[in-house]
Amino acid sequence: MIGFAKSFLKKYLPRKVLKKAVPLYAEIKYALNGGEYKGANVYCSCCDKSFGRFKTLDIDPLNHNYDFFKYTRLDVICPYCGSWSRHRVLADYLEKHINTMDSKMLIFAIPRAYITYFQRNKQKYLSADYYNRMADVKADIQELPYRDNEFDFISCDHVLEHVPDDTKALSELRRIVKPGGVVAISVPIMSCLKKTYEDGSVVSPEDRWREFGQADHLRVYGMDFIDKLHAVGFNVEIIDGFTLDERIVPTMAASEDDYNKLFICKK
Ligand SMILES: [Zn+2]
Repeated sequence: MIGFAKSFLKKYLPRKVLKKAVPLYAEIKYALNGGEYKGANVYCSCCDKSFGRFKTLDIDPLNHNYDFFKYTRLDVICPYCGSWSRHRVLADYLEKHINTMDSKMLIFAIPRAYITYFQRNKQKYLSADYYNRMADVKADIQELPYRDNEFDFISCDHVLEHVPDDTKALSELRRIVKPGGVVAISVPIMSCLKKTYEDGSVVSPEDRWREFGQADHLRVYGMDFIDKLHAVGFNVEIIDGFTLDERIVPTMAASEDDYNKLFICKK
């Protein structure tokens, strides 16, 4: 019943109301169910709160060709704002490296954790997505409706694995970021793959789940992902989540997968 009400409101509430409701939703949910997470062992850089532990992701570990769950810790979800490890890595990066107030920011695939982060910092930003109703603009990342050199900071968090032409998307991101600006990118990567695996003949949700790890993923990235970033002309620095605050580190995913890696791309 609660799940149905949530889906209904997400579908029909006006976008502005929906965005404003996010902190209220977090507050109410945590007031009702947060008791078991009280404590100060772990820290969330998105909502700036501490907890005894993070929540465990409720997911069915179905069979894939890749054993994602061997590499991925599931007890990584913030019980307040819903952040994952990679969201906390980005929030930590923003705090340390980006003067957000003066920056023109574009956020793709805006998750609840980033809405919480930007609202608590009173930071203006533009969000874009092809599917998410909470985004300000519906946009195809392969053909963006923005001028060259328009943004100081762009976040592209787990988007490229859904996009047919990811090279075109990366070229677009490089086109619209200012010289000296930053595009922060994360994608699912399997370290056991030297080369990115994709196969356009895999189309059914079941087959994509088995081959790529999610029903709407079009590929699994391998260790050549950084080459793709270099190929479109980015200078790349990799931020490793294990270098962060010691209260964040214990709930990073394993080092072999993507969840603790943020690719900081500059032009
Ligand atoms: Zn949080």
